[in-house]
Amino acid sequence: MSGAALVLKQLVYRSKATAKFSEDDLLKITSDSIPFNRENNITGILLFDGEYFFQVLEGKSDVVHALYEHIKGDSRHTNIVKVTELVVHKRDFGEWLLRALTVNEGSRCYWLPPDLTLNREGRMFALLNSFASGRWRNCLSDSERKSISAKITTAATSIAQFENSHIQFAFQPIIDTFKGKITSLEALIRSDDGEFPEAILDCLDGEEKYKFDLESKAIAIAQGAKLLNPSQSLSINLCPGAMTYLPDVGEYLCKLLGESGLKPEQLVLEVTETEIIKENDAFFEAVERVRSRGIKIAIDDFGAGYAGLSLLADFSPDKIKLDRKITTGIHENGHRQAITEAVLEFANAMGIPLVVEGVETIEEWLWLQHIGVQRFQGFLFAKPCLNGIAEVKFKVDGGETL
Ligand code: C2E
Ligand code: MN
Ligand code: MN
Repeated sequence: MSGAALVLKQLVYRSKATAKFSEDDLLKITSDSIPFNRENNITGILLFDGEYFFQVLEGKSDVVHALYEHIKGDSRHTNIVKVTELVVHKRDFGEWLLRALTVNEGSRCYWLPPDLTLNREGRMFALLNSFASGRWRNCLSDSERKSISAKITTAATSIAQFENSHIQFAFQPIIDTFKGKITSLEALIRSDDGEFPEAILDCLDGEEKYKFDLESKAIAIAQGAKLLNPSQSLSINLCPGAMTYLPDVGEYLCKLLGESGLKPEQLVLEVTETEIIKENDAFFEAVERVRSRGIKIAIDDFGAGYAGLSLLADFSPDKIKLDRKITTGIHENGHRQAITEAVLEFANAMGIPLVVEGVETIEEWLWLQHIGVQRFQGFLFAKPCLNGIAEVKFKVDGGETL
């Protein structure tokens, strides 16, 4: 057995009952679980508010994980979200193989019986309290789900490849599923022999890379302009270093825009959060000059890098693109949900549009649109398409894809 399997863990999940549960039903869950828990040294607590379950499983890591997988298959509940998982050095519910408590449904108020000694300053108490006071009830009800419909269908488009060039671009749409339209296209660099950005860019160093990155944008803008309609914008990626490579990047980009017939307001520069160095004044000055011409700036891959929140504290982008690492599997993951809700709240408070990247499944989309995300990019809608836009055929009715 590996060391990690022996670590003591607490796994917390939230789920929604599929049928009405009486006190007796709840007691039955408890009595059914106790023999297994005793044998496997599992302890914990189960809260129920008439609609949602909130359970803590305590035990050896591998046993807890296996039990959670088993619990997920139980048809008496649905919308199962792993709220969190903690390594602990001692149990919080040591005496309780499984303690079930009903949380008063009306008041959502939570009290701990006196025989349950839990440190009120500790994290477990705070977690239970967060459930009892109304959090973790953010999933889609069946009736809400049935009322969801969305439809975006656009035909595939393609253009001739850019002549005499080793470098080409693929385009991927960013979709507003509330408005039902493609709001922008992101240009992603490719080589004519099918290489991806990493392979193309990583073999270049410093100045050489910045020069190449800027020069390639002539192709991205010329090709993008052929695919774009006047209400859409074009997103291009630039290394932060490229922003300061020329004395006036804005002037250079405006020249390219002019040649292609696009307006500066239609261009969004995506800069990856990971690469932005906060202390780099020259970068932020370049950003200001570019913006003064009407060009917009997006923070790309937000949440994947180091700059993080302090970047947002000092710098207000025109768009935030939340990284795929944060949103993959969001419908089942409490940490990702809480982070995304916080970022969305910030974006709404500041009036900054939020795009969620890497949406691959309908379940992820359903959860995200339920909390109010409007704009999405991901394989669920369309994959990047070389010198063109893939067909978009996104039809949801009654919460199911057609
Ligand atoms: P990015 O700007 O975040 O672009 C999105 C990347 O995610 C693209 O990968 C796209 O194919 C991929 N993607 C989109 N939807 C999904 C999805 O649902 N699931 C998954 N698994 N992936 C999805 P790609 O084209 O390989 O680009 C990788 C990165 O390379 C880009 O990430 C961007 O940071 C960089 N890049 C692309 N073109 C350029 C460029 O012209 N200049 C610079 N400096 N960087 C570029
Ligand atoms: Mn990007
Ligand atoms: Mn990105």
